[in-house]
Parts: sequence; C-alpha cells; structure tokens
Amino acid sequence: MASQKEKEASQDKLERKDKRKRIDESIEHCTHVLSVLLQKPEMWCHPTFRTVRECIQVMKANPQQFPPVIGDNTPDGTAYSDNNAVSRKIPSLTPSYISGIAQYKDVDVALSPILQVVSATMKYESSTEGKKSNSIHFTHLRLCDGSNDVMVGRLSMHISHEGNKLRPGDIIQLDVFTPLRFTPSGENDGDHRLPAVVIHNYSRIGYAAPRNELNNPIHCVNVTDSIPPVVPTPSDGAHLDDGMEPLIEVTCTAGSRYCSLYGVNAVVCICDANPPSKIDLEIVHQFCYFATTDVQNMNNKKKRNMLYWWFMTNHYNICGKGNRKKPPACLLAAIRKAYPEANGRYVPYEAK
Ligand SMILES: [Zn+2]
Ligand SMILES: [Zn+2]
Repeated sequence: MASQKEKEASQDKLERKDKRKRIDESIEHCTHVLSVLLQKPEMWCHPTFRTVRECIQVMKANPQQFPPVIGDNTPDGTAYSDNNAVSRKIPSLTPSYISGIAQYKDVDVALSPILQVVSATMKYESSTEGKKSNSIHFTHLRLCDGSNDVMVGRLSMHISHEGNKLRPGDIIQLDVFTPLRFTPSGENDGDHRLPAVVIHNYSRIGYAAPRNELNNPIHCVNVTDSIPPVVPTPSDGAHLDDGMEPLIEVTCTAGSRYCSLYGVNAVVCICDANPPSKIDLEIVHQFCYFATTDVQNMNNKKKRNMLYWWFMTNHYNICGKGNRKKPPACLLAAIRKAYPEANGRYVPYEAK
C-alpha cells in the first residue's frame, strides 16, 4: 500500500500537471486572439480588445524590457539575430563615478552621470517634533555605476513616490543632483563616510538586465585632515543691535565648505548644485507642513522659512537626524539673496 507521503506526492504531481495544462490552454487562447487581430486589423478598436491594446502600449513604451528573443520571426520575415541584439542601444553607465566621490577626486559637476538602479526602498521620516507631526517620504535608491560600485541615491521629497516605482535594472540619468559623502550615524568623523547623491531630478533612459557582480560598498578614503574644520556661521556672532541678522555673503569653496555639516560632507556647495532661487515654491508648498498661506500671498520671510526646511530635510536628514539644526552660512545667504528683506534685516533662523 502506498504510504501517506507517496499519496501526497502523486497528488502534488497531478495538481502541477493540471496547472501546466491550464497555462498551456490560456497561452493557446491568447495566441489565437492575437492572430485573429493580425488577420483582421479592423477589429483592433473593438472594446473587447481594450486590455490587449493596453498591454501592447506598455510593451511598446518599454522596448528594452520586452525585446525579441534570438530566433523570433520579425515583421520583415527574417529571424531575429544577435546582430539586432547588439544594435539595441543600452545606454552605458558612467564609469568610476562613485569611486571618484569616495576618493575625493574632482567630481565633474557638469557631467550628468548615468547609473543603474539596484533597488529602491521608500522610507518614512518624521518631519516634525511636537504636535503637528506628519510623516514624509524619502526613497533611497541603491545605484551602480559603470565600474560596478554602489552608492545611495536619496530622492528629494517631491520625486520619492515616482522614484519608488523604479525597478532593478532601470537606467537613469541624473539631471539636478548633489553629490556628497555622509556618515549614517550623523557624526562628523571621516572614517566611516559613504558616497551618496541627493537627487532633485532625473530621467529614466532605459533598462538593462541587473548586474550580478557588484562591488562591496565602498567607504570613502580617510580624509580627516582634508575635511575643512566646521566653520562657524557668520550669523553666530553677527547680530544687529536689535537681535536681527544681516545678509552675510560667504564663498563656499573646497577649502571652507560651509555646507559640510551634521555628518554630511558636500562635494560641491549644496546651493550651487541646486540653487535656492530656481526651486519651484509651489512644489515645496505641497510638502511643507507649516506652510498654510498660498505661495502667491506669502511674504519673503515665509518663503525663506519653507526653503530652509526643504534644504535641511532633503540634504541633512540622510544621516537620520538633524533637520532641526541651523542652516549653513552659504544656504542662509543664498536663500536670503533669493527672497530678500528690503531693510536688510533678517530674523535669526529658528528651527520649527
Ligand atoms: Zn505616501
Ligand atoms: Zn555651501
């Protein structure tokens, strides 16, 4: 007599066979529908075929993801060959980009690097302390470059939902972005920095099979000596008689990088990479929990406060703490210049 185990195994086998049969039948049916359409194109617009039309639109929009397979018959009657495969243009990834950031090489900021998505994870971060707490989203991508190095790509708030739909293998080109190094702990020590990029805008330009052989995460070279000392912001000691602050311009250079603060080491000034004057305030307004007035009715003080919050949260929260902190001198100046006070007097920044 067959044991219980044997019975179960044969039951399993039957179920698998049944499933296989059902799949074969539906593929056969599907093939039939498509061949009818090919023979009678006048039926294409019929409501019955709506789902078919929609599927085909998605495939046409993503040809890299749905390429023909070698040996398939093509519309011109030839078989699809390897030559066609080579001519499909897969954008090539920028080499040595991530190691360049990690090794403190001169990163060409005019270059829009092409990188491939390894994974995307949406994170929730609390944007406020106290009563009006709400959560905001950040998507952190793992991105690889042409040298198989990997880094974090943190998407700015306004593109985090869209970016969370990116899939492993998607190839993106960065349009507006801030390369940096950061310590996950938020401490300002040079030993455990990782290369990263805050992305303000990108374009998805293609797809290729995800790479199998990625390098281990690279730590930045130990540069404790070449990290500029934390520069006291001019506003610390620059109060006017009545406690207000003037606009103090600073030159943020590699030697005195004012925006290298709170565990973030900026490769270029965060205000050069993403100028405050060019930020669309309507977008910031959608996310800013304390902005209650419409942008068109806002005074410059309110606009500045929104921008301080936007920059501090997008850039410095990458370390997991610290958007309650004072903006760096270069950012204070750039935002005050973009939205000035006629009398030149500014209320000292107070974290909300
Ligand atoms: Zn959401
Ligand atoms: Zn700066």
